[in-house]
Amino acid sequence: MNMHRNYIAGEWLTADNAIENRNPSDITDLIGTYAQAETDHLERALDSAHTAQKQWQATGLEARQTALMHIGNALMARADELGELLSREEGKPRAEGRGEVYRAGQFFTYYAAEVLRQIGDNADSVRPGIEIDVRRDPVGIVAVISPWNFPTATAVWKIAPALAYGNAVIWKPANLVPASAVAVTEIIADAGLPAGLFNLVMGSGATVGDALVSHPAVNAITFTGSVETGRRIAASAIGNMPRLQMEMGSKNALVVMDDADLDLAVACAANGAFGGTGQKCTASSRLIVHDAVHDAFVDRLVATTKALKVGHALEDGTQIGPVVSEGQLAENLDYVALAKSEGGEILCGGERLDMAHDGHYMAPCVVAGTGNDWRINREEMFAPIACVIRAGSYDEALALSNDTHFGLTAGIMTQSLARASDFRRRAETGVVMVNLATAGTDYHVPFGGRGDSSYGPREQGQHAVEFYTSMKTAYIAAGAVS
Ligand code: NAP
Repeated sequence: MNMHRNYIAGEWLTADNAIENRNPSDITDLIGTYAQAETDHLERALDSAHTAQKQWQATGLEARQTALMHIGNALMARADELGELLSREEGKPRAEGRGEVYRAGQFFTYYAAEVLRQIGDNADSVRPGIEIDVRRDPVGIVAVISPWNFPTATAVWKIAPALAYGNAVIWKPANLVPASAVAVTEIIADAGLPAGLFNLVMGSGATVGDALVSHPAVNAITFTGSVETGRRIAASAIGNMPRLQMEMGSKNALVVMDDADLDLAVACAANGAFGGTGQKCTASSRLIVHDAVHDAFVDRLVATTKALKVGHALEDGTQIGPVVSEGQLAENLDYVALAKSEGGEILCGGERLDMAHDGHYMAPCVVAGTGNDWRINREEMFAPIACVIRAGSYDEALALSNDTHFGLTAGIMTQSLARASDFRRRAETGVVMVNLATAGTDYHVPFGGRGDSSYGPREQGQHAVEFYTSMKTAYIAAGAVS
């Protein structure tokens, strides 16, 4: 089988070492082998990025816009094919894989339009005869470090604005999902960008990832992944003082009030907790349920959860795919054991499933009677495990929802406008959902969290400009020029 290569300085380069990429739905399915970038590859990528970024910055806006539009349209046109590849290597059901690739295309077309909206400010000086012009420059070379759970979307919502605002990119994807990275890179490589403007360096976080984030030539690092890795990256990078933007884990709460539409609440809870096999930073992993509806809600949630079809990501009818890896599955099962030992009642699921294919399957799990101070409600599990916490009042539910060191999303199910408004104002998270699952966001508005979930400026929408550009304030004594 041919080795898939890294894309460096406009060339596809092979390497001495490669990893195997296997389908988590069926580990006998070998997707390919993927070159692991070496130190001199990284140096070459950074050198070429330095030159290409200057060229790109000087390239006319329409040419930049056209290139980004080309990439976005290609991703959308190939969403079926690349979505299937994504599902094959990550394990999310086919429709979710397709949706992710299509969304990645939308990020590119959105930022293509933003290329033409780069408008600055001007002002009169407080001193007579002087005018002031405020505009934004690119920051330079941006390192993009992305996770495995949204292999294409998380990377693209960084790459697209980085390029739109005139930067060069070095992308290190997660080693669990290199096929999607190569596919996106092939499309970008076809867009006519200056050689070296965009580079793909595959390899582990501990090797090429650490070498990239600690390199003095990198001007900005945008990372999505776990809090632990985020801390490590910040520590490695800070000596060089690059810009840092980090979107990390969470422990999102969905509050179900006594006046909620219970059918809708159950649908949102099941979707938020088990969509993507629970492997979403926005997953509804804490379900905080009002006493008055607790038992009815739990009964219906258990029935809904038991009816979910777990299966091969590419098979028709599959609602929950496998867990991404054997290691992740082992961790999940340890959390189920922990839930029991902390006193939780496992109402359904939580066990490994033996299926027709040899994959990492697990039955989605509902745990009732849990305490918000238990480890299962403090630590991000990244698993199809939903923990139910009882609350006696709205105030208690809100306090429980906010009692976490994370702060990405929170949701409330209620038919009371007053409660919905109050929750929207007092939830200590970057994203709030009312009568919606905690997962599922748009691309034209800011996304990010608070507490340990986020560090640095927001991603997505027009707010991304803050991270990918540096402001310049020019004073012009107009009378002194002819
Ligand atoms: P992870 O283990 O933290 O890894 C994320 C990325 O960092 C991978 O590419 C990894 O490479 C790389 N990495 C690891 N150590 C590194 C180092 N020392 N220096 C540089 N790079 C390093 O996270 P994951 O397991 O892939 O993804 C799951 C996590 O992502 C969860 O915590 C989830 O909540 C979070 N997430 C957050 C958001 C959000 O927007 N807030 C969205 C999606 C996911 P290798 O894996 O190849 O070693």
